Amino acid sequence: MNEDKFDAIIVGGGLAGLSAAIVLARAGKGVIVIERGDYCGAKNMTGGRLYGHSLEKLIPGFAASAPIERVVTREKISLMTADSALDIGYTAPKLGAEPEHASYTVLRGTFDQWLADQAMEAGADIIPGFLVDRVLVEDGKVVGVDAGGEEMYADVVILADGVNSLLAQQLGMKKELEPHQVAVGAKEVIKLGEDVINQRFGLTGNEGMAWLSAGAPSDGSFGGGLLYTNKDTVSIGIVATLSDIGHSELSVPQMLDRFKEHPAIAPLIEGGTPIEYSGHLVPEEGYGMIPELVRDGVLVTGDAAGFCINLGFTVRGMDFAIESGRLAAEAVLHAHEVGDFSKETLSLYETLLQNSFIMRDMKQYKGFPTILTERAVFEDIPKIADDVCGKLFTVDGKPSDGVIMSTVNTIAQKTSARQLVDMITRILEAF
Ligand SMILES: Cc1cc2nc3c(=O)[nH]c(=O)nc-3n(C[C@H](O)[C@H](O)[C@H](O)COP(=O)(O)OP(=O)(O)OC[C@H]3O[C@@H](n4cnc5c(N)ncnc54)[C@H](O)[C@@H]3O)c2cc1C
Repeated sequence: MNEDKFDAIIVGGGLAGLSAAIVLARAGKGVIVIERGDYCGAKNMTGGRLYGHSLEKLIPGFAASAPIERVVTREKISLMTADSALDIGYTAPKLGAEPEHASYTVLRGTFDQWLADQAMEAGADIIPGFLVDRVLVEDGKVVGVDAGGEEMYADVVILADGVNSLLAQQLGMKKELEPHQVAVGAKEVIKLGEDVINQRFGLTGNEGMAWLSAGAPSDGSFGGGLLYTNKDTVSIGIVATLSDIGHSELSVPQMLDRFKEHPAIAPLIEGGTPIEYSGHLVPEEGYGMIPELVRDGVLVTGDAAGFCINLGFTVRGMDFAIESGRLAAEAVLHAHEVGDFSKETLSLYETLLQNSFIMRDMKQYKGFPTILTERAVFEDIPKIADDVCGKLFTVDGKPSDGVIMSTVNTIAQKTSARQLVDMITRILEAF
């Protein structure tokens, strides 16, 4: 290897980039990860829940040594109005029993640093504090990167630079993001103490809760509220789709403040100390926003490739990032074997993706973003739920009959039966 030429340069030390680095370094390749943050994880954010299956493939038994916060054994989803919440809960220790099925709450600041340590132990070099300004192209082939005026060369560049991926845009592989393709996320980490969390959320040991809610949290905009219990903190946040934010008079930080004051939330975080505040974009459009993934000398992974799904009751991007990083690295290893870094050879990445859960799930749920743009999901249904429950659970000596009919009338006023049936059918078809 030419001293100035690496086998691979990875731009972005998030989950996608670090996973790719681990695979390449383990195979003995000369690989560097260039990360603009002061350390891996410094600039990264997530709601909080990692589905462990893809990292399990890369680092079997990772949960024993990784800085996971809690194992999720309690699920909760809620329909919220400003002053009510209809909750569906599911408690099952078996959710966390098998590593390949388990999910964990994580904080990216510590988690990404741990993954970076794994990459370095495998032999990768990580260069933090450097922003890659541009990708170097010679004769139509990507040959390296320019970071702060310093040019570095490699056989392959893996772009793992996150949802915006200005570098994939620079190359013309990805279009500028449109407002309907991304949501804005704002999150606070609030310190409460381990015992307080266990008491307030009914948890024991390292059990954790994942709680997503729709309706009032995003003020009727497409999106919702999230709350994940960590070891001694909770992550609480809002996600609201950019194209729909104008629907509300509140800014996303204001939505978050109001969410924290909701009667279902406020008592749970009372007395807590906010220790971290972050904001980030989330890819929301799913299958429809996947860019060109491979060109001569370059591959695009993780959020940069739009690999993220928001189904309302689960948000997934981290398991896709890890798996897509791993698969990109497998394709690069093949290219090294045959000594050819053309688009044709690197297209093995696309084949591996097609045969993986990533493309299977991206295709399966490709209709979801449009279902979730139904105003009914975020505005009408939470109000109807409040109406019905308010009546059902009020006993005041007055006649209680008519609850069902008045609900049917409310639904009929809000939306036609045909619209509702259509929406339910489309949701069922996606599963
Ligand atoms: C509010 C919110 C809630 C979410 N909730 C969940 C959840 O609960 N579960 C889940 O699985 N997913 C969730 N996601 C999605 C998940 O966080 C992402 O899919 C995942 O982080 C993508 O990882 P990545 O490595 O592709 O990108 P990132 O983690 O964004 O990493 C990209 C890295 O590239 C670096 N970088 C960017 N440009 C450059 C450059 N030019 N030069 C050098 N470095 C650069 C950045 O600093 C960063 O470290 C959520 C996202 C948000 C925002």
